[in-house]
Amino acid sequence: MRVLAASLLALAIATSAAAQEVTPAPEVSQEAVAQASDVAPQSIATTPEVAAIEPQLAQPTVRPPPSRARPAIDSDEGGLWGMSDRAEIEARNSGQLERDPALNAYLYEVACRVADDVCGDIRLYVMNRPYFNASMAPNGYMEVWSGLLLRAEDEAQLAFVLGHEIEHYRQQHSLAMMRTVRARAGAAAVFSIIAAGAGVGIVGDIVYLGTLASVFGFSRENESEADQIGYDHAVAAGYDPHAGHTLWSNLVAETQVSDNPDTRRRETRASIFRTHPLSADRVEALEERAANASGGETNRERYRAAIRPFLDPWLRADLRRRDYGQTAALLDRLAAHGEDLGVVEYYRGEINRLRRGDGDRERAFQHYTTAITYPDAPAAAWRELGDFAARDGRNAEAVTLLTTYLERAPDAGDRAFVEARIGQLGGGQ
Ligand SMILES: [Zn+2]
Repeated sequence: MRVLAASLLALAIATSAAAQEVTPAPEVSQEAVAQASDVAPQSIATTPEVAAIEPQLAQPTVRPPPSRARPAIDSDEGGLWGMSDRAEIEARNSGQLERDPALNAYLYEVACRVADDVCGDIRLYVMNRPYFNASMAPNGYMEVWSGLLLRAEDEAQLAFVLGHEIEHYRQQHSLAMMRTVRARAGAAAVFSIIAAGAGVGIVGDIVYLGTLASVFGFSRENESEADQIGYDHAVAAGYDPHAGHTLWSNLVAETQVSDNPDTRRRETRASIFRTHPLSADRVEALEERAANASGGETNRERYRAAIRPFLDPWLRADLRRRDYGQTAALLDRLAAHGEDLGVVEYYRGEINRLRRGDGDRERAFQHYTTAITYPDAPAAAWRELGDFAARDGRNAEAVTLLTTYLERAPDAGDRAFVEARIGQLGGGQ
């Protein structure tokens, strides 16, 4: 059983790089915890030591020294670090890693501003993954996902989330969680459950996050503590005190317009923030704390400028979740200040094109038509309009639109196909 469990985890780690989508984590029941007890205690610490992790190139090479020494490999904490090291190596080699130097430098700067005494511990990785997620593993490896960056409206909201994650790290909540599970269910339950999870689709989270939170979720007490102290750090760093409850409220609202009835019904847990159960009382607690506070910066325009170059690919990934209700709510928030309307209108069109409900075709056409009146419209908007024209028999117009598409997207992957289509429509002669 021990060998099988270890093999499953190793296999899952080896194969997870190919995973493009994250499957929702199933609930781990108390029974499952109680049953998983036949792996020897030392298994949790058998992760081989890996070479010290070097910071990413895009982040400063001069940074404060780490606040923590690496724990002994044969300790339970050392086992957690080993798991985190493996996850970090996966992240570094992932095709979903965003390596853009300007984006990385900006996000690291914001993280450090709220991290205070543990700034030197952070190694940040930005991932193009369409879920609202951030995490900081026990070894200091931090992930921030595009689904979060699209949903934070400004730098203050991002700072609050990062402050929350950093507080989980600072308080060593992962270690506390592991010890709680061990005390309740036997010394090796943690490892056993993680290994068993390899067969049911949750291992992606383990590899991605490197934290036990991805399996068990932090306790409500840990979440509230991370909220409150994360709030304090963000406000002390000069950020808008209302950012935290505004962000959480937006996420709850987005959950309630989900296409998925189960997601809408789960009021106490916003599915787009799966590893940190989000409840109404947490939103209220932050709102009360901020009630009499004022001032603070949002740095909204600076934040938007930093993520602007990535709106197109990140929204493309968001559509792959096939939760058009949630993506539509996200687009409404992105459009709230009248910015980036070419991209927003194109993706509104994409929702309609992919959903194929009553009236969706007409709405898609309208959104694409509006999109191309803005300078930031993705080239694909012209391709879609060309497709509409061709289907409606407006061949000359289709040729013009498809030609414009190729002019605006000279490296388009479907160039040969589109050129052939233009030829069939009577163009290109
Ligand atoms: Zn949390």
